[in-house]
Amino acid sequence: MPRFSAVLFLALFGILGLAPFGDTTAQASDDNTVNLYSYRQPFLIKPLLDEFTQQTGITVNMVYVKKGMLERLKAEGDNSPADMVLTSDIGSLNDMVEAGVLQPAKSEKIEMNVPAQYRHPEGLWYGLTVRARVIFASKERTIPGEVTRYGDLTKPELKGRICTRSGKHLYNISLIAALIAHDGEEAAKQWLTGVRDNLAQKPQGNDRAQARAIYEGVCDYAIANTYYMGKMAANEKKPEQRQWAKGLRIIFPNQEARGAHVNISGAAVIKSARHKQNAIRLIEYLSSDLAQRIYAKKNFEYPVKPGVPLHPLVASWGSFKADKIALTEVAKHRATASRIVDITAYDLGPQNGS
Ligand code: FE
Repeated sequence: MPRFSAVLFLALFGILGLAPFGDTTAQASDDNTVNLYSYRQPFLIKPLLDEFTQQTGITVNMVYVKKGMLERLKAEGDNSPADMVLTSDIGSLNDMVEAGVLQPAKSEKIEMNVPAQYRHPEGLWYGLTVRARVIFASKERTIPGEVTRYGDLTKPELKGRICTRSGKHLYNISLIAALIAHDGEEAAKQWLTGVRDNLAQKPQGNDRAQARAIYEGVCDYAIANTYYMGKMAANEKKPEQRQWAKGLRIIFPNQEARGAHVNISGAAVIKSARHKQNAIRLIEYLSSDLAQRIYAKKNFEYPVKPGVPLHPLVASWGSFKADKIALTEVAKHRATASRIVDITAYDLGPQNGS
């Protein structure tokens, strides 16, 4: 019997792809680690992880994943070395929820730090930083007050004056999904069609490319995430981006109504995590005052924890009202949002036909 157990033990560990004799000796040190897959770039997160290790003695093994994280997690299945993930949009977190690769991670500390709007009700994911999807406007060629709502982007006088990236990009899908959640599919479709016909060019490039297009006079308004304004304005490696930022002002849309659409970067614990408690401790740390201040500042984002000071540049954009809708509610409409982008052929650009 003992022999059989030993064989079974070896076979099991063989399946798991682990070293068979690491059970007791290596376990002690192995217990002091947490394995992280990150969509967030190392420069953003590494200093925080080092600080966490100093405080707790827990080593963080980070793998920076540029894309395809969910596919990777699915392929690895229960053998995945990952305990947790860091992502930069509710969309990827939601895809992971739907694929069943996450597990609930409950912590009173995290719940106290992260407002309910920015976390999954069962602890399947937690937001860590907030960004608003706003309107960038040319200081020179727009009049304050002309555009104050997302809805204004469909005004006829804005024809040929708007730029955006692809409607299929995660950030735009979330924005459209929020619109569907509030006003329904038909209204969202009309809005998207209206914006499409006001585009100056086919949707292309990333958010920063829209700022450049405004700088180059291609368009006067663009839809973009707030932190890009900070990243461009403070860009030392690419000083031309400072010029793009200089000519822009931020319009926080819908301030008289439900508030600007916001999204999160967040964290979640993987279903097969072998270091679940360490993962929870890392999320607790990342949602704490100190980490929140550093994390949000580094990427010109908003801390998810209320009352944490902002980067001075971010503070200079002024305070704004964020849409209070739960992001889980928004996520439900992502598939419809994507379908609407197809139906309206948004990515083909204006189709005024006359
Ligand atoms: Fe981004």
